[in-house]
Amino acid sequence: MKTKFPLEKFKQLSTPFYYYDVDLLKETAQALKNEADKYGYIIHYALKANPNKKILDILKEYGFGADCVSGNEVQRAIDCGFSPDHIAFAGVGKTDEEIETGLDHKIFTFNCESIPEIENINELAKKRDVVADIAIRINPNVDAHTHHYITTGLEENKFGISRWQFQEVADLLKSLKHVRLISLHFHVGSQITDLNVFEALCDKVNEIQDWFKSQGFVFKHVNLGGGLGIDYTAPNEHPIANFIDYFAIINKNLKVEKGQKVHFEIGRAIVGQGGNLITKVLYVKHGQKKSFAIVDAGMTDLIRPALYQAVHKIENITSTGAEKVYDVVGPICESSDCFAQGIAMAEANRGDLLAMRSAGAYGEIMASQYNLRKLPEHYYSDEL
Ligand SMILES: *Cc1c(COP(=O)(O)O)cnc(C)c1O
Repeated sequence: MKTKFPLEKFKQLSTPFYYYDVDLLKETAQALKNEADKYGYIIHYALKANPNKKILDILKEYGFGADCVSGNEVQRAIDCGFSPDHIAFAGVGKTDEEIETGLDHKIFTFNCESIPEIENINELAKKRDVVADIAIRINPNVDAHTHHYITTGLEENKFGISRWQFQEVADLLKSLKHVRLISLHFHVGSQITDLNVFEALCDKVNEIQDWFKSQGFVFKHVNLGGGLGIDYTAPNEHPIANFIDYFAIINKNLKVEKGQKVHFEIGRAIVGQGGNLITKVLYVKHGQKKSFAIVDAGMTDLIRPALYQAVHKIENITSTGAEKVYDVVGPICESSDCFAQGIAMAEANRGDLLAMRSAGAYGEIMASQYNLRKLPEHYYSDEL
């Protein structure tokens, strides 16, 4: 399904703003649910990709749990009606206050990323005389073949617990009374488009589960995290992520214990394609070597190109002119405030509206007020 832009309505709105295609979001959520249900897999929506209340309201209707990386995200998920026993809480630096939020609500798991964190959760749970269910986040040393800023499963990354620490963790867990290890957790990166990565991940998960089993641990759950990529270059051709092959690969390669539940934490692949950043062309500046389309959105509204060298397809949605080549740049006083270089799009003129596609994940929530700018507004297709 191709996103349609209501141009007459857009022309009455001040730019830049995010525009969410609710039909596509729902279609994507349904496709994900259908595929996951085939194998009995449990999906948690990774809130950090886009924690807008309306999006959470829609996604919870599909029965997804939540994956949170801060106490505020845990609170937001609960406020939006996600059941605490479907909330996983990850992050390398959970504060005591955040852990207490999780304990207050008896969340599904704390996904622990270090030995001192496990000890701290044990202490905080002991003070309340409760037992916290935990997973340990394993750093499996699997290369996600994605941008190095969004690779998380390599030995050199700050995330998770590595192989050489397993024995110490296993011994520690046997001695602690206020944490119960119920799951292993893995999350090796984001925007992963090479599905072989997930096959390699399954091999590691199988091997690591066997090791823990040999130490007497039984896991009711195993959590493979998220990271499935989307097609940023061709959003119209591939509006829905490849859930079919993704789960088929996992199903083929993951050894699942009898009665064990397999969990996923999917963010980008659910919400990425449904969002667009709509911006207006302020000026077209012709240089000797190139032409700049200077737009009113900046890296403060969508930081992914500047931060991760990310590609977003940019379409001129109000021009029918012949294609020309542009650098599309924002107004911020930083050279990295550039959305694309040397791209072809319909001839741009002052006042044209451009759509930066596939901006539903890690877009609006990363907006900042640098240069004392206004935060972008957002609109939903079913409300305009
Ligand atoms: C960010 C994150 C996710 C979601 O990643 P996507 O690439 O958006 O699917 C899942 N799990 C954890 C622990 C994360 O930090």
